[in-house]
Amino acid sequence: MSATANVTKVDFYEVLSVSRDASDQELKTAYRKLAMQYHPDRNPGDATAEEKFKECSEAYQVLSDPEKRAAYDRYGHAAFNGSSSGFGSSPFGGGFGGAQDLGDIFGDLFGEMFNMGGSSRGGRASRAQRGRDLRYDLTIEFEEAVFGVEREIKIRRSETCTDCHGTGAARGKEPVTCSACGGRGQQRYQQGFFSVARTCSTCGGTGTLIVDPCTTCRGETRIQTEHTILVKVPAGVEQDTRIRYQGEGESGKFGGPAGDLYVVLNVKSHKFFERDGDDLHCVMPISFPQAALGTEIEIQTLEGVETIKVPEGTQSGREFKLRGKGVPHLNERGKGDLIVEIRVQTPGKLSKQQKELLRQLAETMEVENTPTSRGIFGKVKEMFN
Ligand code: ZN
Repeated sequence: MSATANVTKVDFYEVLSVSRDASDQELKTAYRKLAMQYHPDRNPGDATAEEKFKECSEAYQVLSDPEKRAAYDRYGHAAFNGSSSGFGSSPFGGGFGGAQDLGDIFGDLFGEMFNMGGSSRGGRASRAQRGRDLRYDLTIEFEEAVFGVEREIKIRRSETCTDCHGTGAARGKEPVTCSACGGRGQQRYQQGFFSVARTCSTCGGTGTLIVDPCTTCRGETRIQTEHTILVKVPAGVEQDTRIRYQGEGESGKFGGPAGDLYVVLNVKSHKFFERDGDDLHCVMPISFPQAALGTEIEIQTLEGVETIKVPEGTQSGREFKLRGKGVPHLNERGKGDLIVEIRVQTPGKLSKQQKELLRQLAETMEVENTPTSRGIFGKVKEMFN
């Protein structure tokens, strides 16, 4: 390495796009950002990115070390050409003093990348991996959600091939160790001042190769099947309730354990009942004379007919509660209530005779039109049963 060659190097501060008085934290942040951007795992085969990655790693290596940074500030790149510095011929060859800091800087960066590549820090990826979870959207009637129901559903999923038992190899043949990575599933190479592990491209990280693939699954280790499952919907479920069937998802590759199946319920609405948790609500229209004189009304609940005694002088908005006539609590004893709201219908389309009768009635009544607060009409609640 000659001094003249070093002089042409790009300024370390410029490489990291930071000012000369940047703090340690600023340096670290700038380096992280660049390293993420130019990391070889993210830019496979891109020579420019690789060069940039080396450059910023080198710059950070020097500037993050107070002694080296001081030397660099004073002598520039010449500080590291061997003759005038105390750091040896190159700070980047051999024993690398700052290596322990890298875990700190790259901890989450590497976590992210290794997840991206489907590989792991520990070397060879496990051949058997858990299969995917599956979701099945099941639409049921309102009453079925209240009382429960059983439904057969058909799902398509990958299952472990029964001919090769998930090895992917033809009968009597075993997978062989991948020669490219020696069975480790990863290939390591030196990148700048630390080594980078990359999933072996030959075996895809499994460490083995299938020479004679199973004819049933064509070496895929799994086959597509259609499977029928009996879904037992318990009483009291709601919209978006999820029922989990452990191990009924897709089988993993290479005989890995199966994921789970989630049946997600979509509950159809009812023509007049609405749910509020385990309570049911409905509105019952009654005529003005019924409200004024009192009446008995029959209401068709989900479990038979109930009678409500409406006392005379009942106002619109009054609620009657039928205890225990609502939805069963899910996985618990007891039920919610049925709440019936009375709506007094103002009569329209009256005959001449009816109008005359109303006028006669009106003449006997005092009229008092004064404002009142909202909600006064809905406050009265009656209990039944
Ligand atoms: Zn097979």
